[in-house]
Amino acid sequence: MNTPTNRRSLERGEIDTFNHVASGVLGRVRLVKTNILPPAADGMTIGRFVFLRGDRIQDRSTTLLAHELVHVRQFAELGVMKFLIAYLGAYVKNLYSLRNHHAAYLAIPLEVEARREAARWAQQQRNGGRDGATVDGASH
Ligand SMILES: [Zn+2]
Repeated sequence: MNTPTNRRSLERGEIDTFNHVASGVLGRVRLVKTNILPPAADGMTIGRFVFLRGDRIQDRSTTLLAHELVHVRQFAELGVMKFLIAYLGAYVKNLYSLRNHHAAYLAIPLEVEARREAARWAQQQRNGGRDGATVDGASH
């Protein structure tokens, strides 16, 4: 029987691949397939639960997952309440000053950090796992 997976843990290989987050944190992660997410979002993280749209739960080693896993680490460090207060507080403050949902979302410090760390991780993957040695201006 081949039932579709709607929920899974990270596999050993993924825990090794996503080396930008501590393996102790990754071991607790649960990926959950959902079709109920804010428009334009492919993923959303609450605590150790990473909600992914459609079949993205089957994707391995994507920058999307790398990004969401940074949020899992942030949740682990701050606790759920502190994360949500920091996240939503920054969003509301940004919305007040920027008057634009997308700009306000992008400027949330927890999002800035997740994008930066996921980009660094993706760059490292392209470099064959070697750290550092980023090439600015490289197109691929
Ligand atoms: Zn994010």
